[in-house]
Amino acid sequence: MNSDHFAARTSPEALVCTNLFGTFFGVPQQVFDAVWNQLTTPDGNAVAYVSMEIGADPDVFHPVKDLLEEGGEPSSVKPHLQALLAKYLHGPRKIPNYSGGLGVLAGDTLKSFADLHVPALAVSLLYREGYFSQIVDSKIGQIDHATRWTPESTPTLFQLKDPHHPDRALTIDIPFHNGQHKPTMIKAHVWMKMEIADQLDYFVPEFLLDYSLPEAPAWVMESAHQLYNAKSTIIKANQRRMLGSAILPLLETLGLNAATIHLNEQHGVTVTLHLILQELQDKLGEAFPDAVTDADILAAAKQVSRTIVYTIHTPVKAGHDRFSRDLYSGISHKAFQRILDLLAHDEEVSHEYNFTAMAMRINRAINSVSRLHRDVTKKQFPAFAHKIKAITNGVHHLTWISDNRKDCFNRIPSLCNWRNDPSCFAAIADQDLPLLGELLQQAWNQDNRLLIEHVNAMLKNHREQMVETWIDPPNHLSSLPESEWLKPGTFTLGFARRFSTYKRADLIFDDIGRLADILIANNWSVNFLFAGKAHPADEPGKYVLKLILDNQEELYTRSKGLGKLIFIPGYDMRVAKLMVAGVHAWLNSPKRPLEASGTSGMKAAMNGVPNISIMDGWWVEGYHGGQTGWKFGFEGPVNDADLSEAPDALLYTEDAGAFYDLLPSVLETFYHRPQDFLARALANLHLNVPIFNTHRMAAEYVAQYDLRLTPQFTADLDRFRRLYQSEQPTL
Ligand SMILES: *Cc1c(COP(=O)(O)O)cnc(C)c1O
Repeated sequence: MNSDHFAARTSPEALVCTNLFGTFFGVPQQVFDAVWNQLTTPDGNAVAYVSMEIGADPDVFHPVKDLLEEGGEPSSVKPHLQALLAKYLHGPRKIPNYSGGLGVLAGDTLKSFADLHVPALAVSLLYREGYFSQIVDSKIGQIDHATRWTPESTPTLFQLKDPHHPDRALTIDIPFHNGQHKPTMIKAHVWMKMEIADQLDYFVPEFLLDYSLPEAPAWVMESAHQLYNAKSTIIKANQRRMLGSAILPLLETLGLNAATIHLNEQHGVTVTLHLILQELQDKLGEAFPDAVTDADILAAAKQVSRTIVYTIHTPVKAGHDRFSRDLYSGISHKAFQRILDLLAHDEEVSHEYNFTAMAMRINRAINSVSRLHRDVTKKQFPAFAHKIKAITNGVHHLTWISDNRKDCFNRIPSLCNWRNDPSCFAAIADQDLPLLGELLQQAWNQDNRLLIEHVNAMLKNHREQMVETWIDPPNHLSSLPESEWLKPGTFTLGFARRFSTYKRADLIFDDIGRLADILIANNWSVNFLFAGKAHPADEPGKYVLKLILDNQEELYTRSKGLGKLIFIPGYDMRVAKLMVAGVHAWLNSPKRPLEASGTSGMKAAMNGVPNISIMDGWWVEGYHGGQTGWKFGFEGPVNDADLSEAPDALLYTEDAGAFYDLLPSVLETFYHRPQDFLARALANLHLNVPIFNTHRMAAEYVAQYDLRLTPQFTADLDRFRRLYQSEQPTL
């Protein structure tokens, strides 16, 4: 931890803050009031960031937790504060309301907004069973079960109180149609999580709507529990409505002003229906549905477009929401159906509403998440090509740089401001490079040791659990003597992501014989560490996960014990952070161009870890002619046929072959030319950290929001934007 990080040492008492919605913890009262005022002034122009999921587990990064841990548990504070502190120091630190990259990106974005004092708030849902939890059994594969967690005991979460009855939860009323064409009001409670700036001098509130109330009707209850519950399309449609329809009532109840609504993916797009309805009512009066013309609706939509900014995240069709018109007719206002007919019609399937198309139509700006993804999105949506710009994703550097790497950067004079300014890595002084190289190597070795110890402890744990439960350990190595387990210093390749088929987790095991031969011919040991969840309804994804398990023994045997393939169950942000810092290289093997951006590789780059990747997503921009890592596989121009996810279009043979051609040179560099390997790590710090961080990304977003910022932060954001502009060359 940076010793002058909390220069004005703040006592825990000074971090209690209150307003009419309750008592909170994490920033001084003055800071709280200043931010709240900024978000609620009548002429305010904040941005409301809307996302189906937000991943910001406090166990991987939380400035208040760091401060408290440094100070230990104070004994002299008042009893109520004592309880609060105990919760912060010992409470569960996971908020399992995310499934993968989309949610983690949302969390990282909000943290950068806080660090950069961007007036923003976020809206999402609170899922009392979160996203599913994963158990892995070597014979069965993935077993999913509901995640148990309690928002009440989770630090950083606060339930808002009713200003008129401070002992009761605040309730907001949200307009729905119940499925039988009847309007109905549904109630939700609101939880607030604060994304707090590293300096504790600003925060961004996230408002999480909790619909799981005892009085909720069954259809609300079953849609409220789990993120991306895919049991039926009606549940899916309801989840989207529960997000989109709550935004305006939430802002109104809390008195928040947002001149811009940023849709992080199209999930919350039904907010536009309510905005259009408001416009029509204002113009035509309450009785408008009889009088309204198509031209009125289109004019209202045009007006509403000025409020909306939209980020599209994937070229994969399953990521685009479509619902049958019949399903929607029961659950929406009469006027909504007219609006949907005009604005959500699907060009290909006439009986469906296409919500991606709707988000494409109603906005003032659209961005995709890398340059290549921009070009692909333009091809997929030619009618909107003129509006689609690139804003390449980033990651929150303070969240993803390991503690050991942080200690290392703190000791480099030209990086002294790295916490506030990740772009300072672009200007590392030449005379600092030898020291940086030496310290980075030490930190890397330490992080590798931590990861290997974690895996070996896991193997042991699984072995012991086998006696107590019916689970067969997910790793072949659990059944071998401990002398065969992993050793620090062995080349370790990491792969962790959602198990969607296009990500091709099993690509490099396509020809195990060939892989084993490479290791044997040179006596090279390699650990392959894999992690990730398949969505419970994604049978092909679960099948790929099972293939990984099935390959373990064969790889081990055929490589004479040189190749060890490990699966780490329960992928989450903590496992991600251990892995991206502890491996020697990060593998990314999707089918080009289906990985719109990818962010786990950026997390590796933040720690100096080189990527070995298909030329897809962010890597097209982060590869720098091979200075920062390696590329393999197909990289020709992208045609419509390349967007197919059909099994026979996934190019396994070609791309796996390219990987085997490449691997010897990577291992040769690691084992025989360590200085060249380290040079790639340093190049990642120098070339990629300044670009692929969410401070730079936030700067590009803010340029679309049209906000008023202080001169200091305006200057900072300008500098980030000058350093890198996503919207440049067409690839
Ligand atoms: C970063 C992250 C992801 C996203 O990784 P991709 O490379 O974009 O697939 C998914 N899950 C977790 C837990 C993460 O930390």
